[in-house]
Amino acid sequence: LPTPVSLAPVSPAPSPVPLPVLGADITVPVTGNRTVPYANLDIAATAPCAVSAADAVNRLLPSYASVHRGAGVLSARCTQAYEQARETVCRFLGCRPGDEVVFTRNTTDALNLLAGAVPADTVVVTFVAEHHANLLPWRTVVRLPLPSSPDEAVAAIDQALHRHGPALVAITAASNVTGEVWPVADIARVARRHGARVAVDAAQLAAHQPVSLADLDVDYIAVSGHKLYAPFGAGVLAGRADWLDAAQPYLRGGGASTQVNSVGTASWAVGPARHEAGTPNLLGAVALAAVCAALTPLHWKALLVQEQHLLGELRAGLAAVPGVRELRLFAPEHPRVGIVSFTIDGLDSAQVARRLADEHGIGVRAGLFCAHPLTRHLLDAHTAAPSTAIRASLGAGTSGEHVHRLVTAVRAIATP
Ligand code: PLP
Repeated sequence: LPTPVSLAPVSPAPSPVPLPVLGADITVPVTGNRTVPYANLDIAATAPCAVSAADAVNRLLPSYASVHRGAGVLSARCTQAYEQARETVCRFLGCRPGDEVVFTRNTTDALNLLAGAVPADTVVVTFVAEHHANLLPWRTVVRLPLPSSPDEAVAAIDQALHRHGPALVAITAASNVTGEVWPVADIARVARRHGARVAVDAAQLAAHQPVSLADLDVDYIAVSGHKLYAPFGAGVLAGRADWLDAAQPYLRGGGASTQVNSVGTASWAVGPARHEAGTPNLLGAVALAAVCAALTPLHWKALLVQEQHLLGELRAGLAAVPGVRELRLFAPEHPRVGIVSFTIDGLDSAQVARRLADEHGIGVRAGLFCAHPLTRHLLDAHTAAPSTAIRASLGAGTSGEHVHRLVTAVRAIATP
């Protein structure tokens, strides 16, 4: 991927995270009648809300009115705010002329929308490594086995496209299990040679570094607002308009239809409206756009530097705890975003996560992370591993103190 700065861990300690988020002062009760600051290390599931997103919502609330539907002044302002949000997201995702930005509920929704728009004779090629959102929606699909290196992944796509011709390659940009960054730009180059298209599940990567349709030379990008420091309920499918404009509307109803006759036959809009039937999620779109606007290249750089520094500390700290094993598909030094999944030999992961919450005030996640085939495969690689893993994830709002507390708590649990 073309990245503005290196993903390699850096030192010494960098400047503070430049994307202020809400919730930094939350305290929680822990065992022993104590209260401690909450360490939210589950940012890959849902990121805390950025102050810029909350401010944008608060500014709009007093003039709250229907989008695309009313003649009143407030309605006109809200329609303008919604379409401006689309423009901002369009720039953020590096849209090219002719690309469309469709607001959805989240990445799952965006990829399901795209799955319904893929022409019936087009095969979808993906890896079993995918999050279920990018594994399950496709109709005619070839799921490639897990590669053991990025080069193997690119070669596997090349071979599959030799067989299936102008397919759609649907691939994650960064794994929600290992944090590993996938070679999307290389895969896109191969896909172009075969006349294939590429859809990128950027649910994780987009919260950690710029992701651009133009720079990656891919056809579609899907993201979730709630992973990008905006509140729940707004996601995006951005990309080439032709399949989207030719597809049946994702939802049927007002806004998507241009004319309906008395027997209920409808003509459908082209453009984003075709797939956005019903009253749009104005606040979600505006909040997401506010984060996109706040993440200038300088902010991105500072965020990345901070996160990679903390990621290095976390991985080194966990590696030094006996019995702790990190889950990874590629080489240890392969670039990754701030996600570390791990197990502790002989300990149940759900119980470890519960103890981290109850005894230490640390929020992580335990399970298979909606990527069952990948997580099971990585767990099966170690005979002593439990049946699920623990995931710690970092981002804006994460501090060195959070990471230090997690490592100390894991050590205490693993070596009582
Ligand atoms: N893709 C990846 C890589 C994810 O990590 C997630 C969520 O964890 C999704 C897709 C689905 O996102 P959402 O639940 O917001 O639809």
